[in-house]
Amino acid sequence: MKIHEYQAKELFKKYAVPTPEGQVATHPDEAVKIARGMGEFPVVVKAQIHAGGRGKGGGVKLAESMEAVRQCAEEILGMTLVTHQTGPQGRCVKKILVEQGLDIQSELYLSLVNDRAAEKIVIMASKAGGMDIEAVAAETPEQIVKVPINPLAGISSYHCRETAFNLQLPATLIKPFSGMLVNLYRLFVAYDCSLVEINPLVITQQDRLVALDAKINFDDNGLFRHP
Ligand code: ADP
Ligand code: MG
Repeated sequence: MKIHEYQAKELFKKYAVPTPEGQVATHPDEAVKIARGMGEFPVVVKAQIHAGGRGKGGGVKLAESMEAVRQCAEEILGMTLVTHQTGPQGRCVKKILVEQGLDIQSELYLSLVNDRAAEKIVIMASKAGGMDIEAVAAETPEQIVKVPINPLAGISSYHCRETAFNLQLPATLIKPFSGMLVNLYRLFVAYDCSLVEINPLVITQQDRLVALDAKINFDDNGLFRHP
């Protein structure tokens, strides 16, 4: 089962994984109201559909004024968004996420997935963030590090350190990164996820790690445990 980015970010918040401030809207008036509440530009308006690649398809827009927020909301709400993950018929956008625009220093990729063959939960990470990870895997697989976790033993600090070193994170970010990864692992297990993905995980100009995007898929076999 898939959920929207804004719902995944609510779960991130619950697990103390930093996300930009933001709220969901279904009408341009509502989007403007949310932007007023944030009181700072840029504001980012993001189509909420169950598919990635929204940025390239015109489903993620930056607004520098209240008027621009309204215009972006009007453009995106109701549009049929076509991305490489929607198929040619696209998806109709019924909800948008209105969130704080961040000053991005660099974009990373981070996910947790089930590896059925290995019977392990695997951390996947890459310095090539913000790109289509399937393409990175196909063209430059050496840019992706995979760190397997024995689900009976759970995640340890060495899993986090190995991932952080591979991402060549600055020393000051290793601790917050490790904390974030442990919390993501807890979320993954608690909710019977099949995928938790942050693409991109950004380092801001203020040297903070923030989950700019959020994707969570649940294992359908576990749904009965989460009414
Ligand atoms: P998708 O993966 O569907 O294209 P993302 O949420 O990853 O959507 O957004 C695409 C790109 O838009 C990001 O890689 C980032 O560069 C930019 N972006 C998204 N959200 C924000 C934000 N809150 N602040 C600044 N830039 C953003
Ligand atoms: Mg993304």
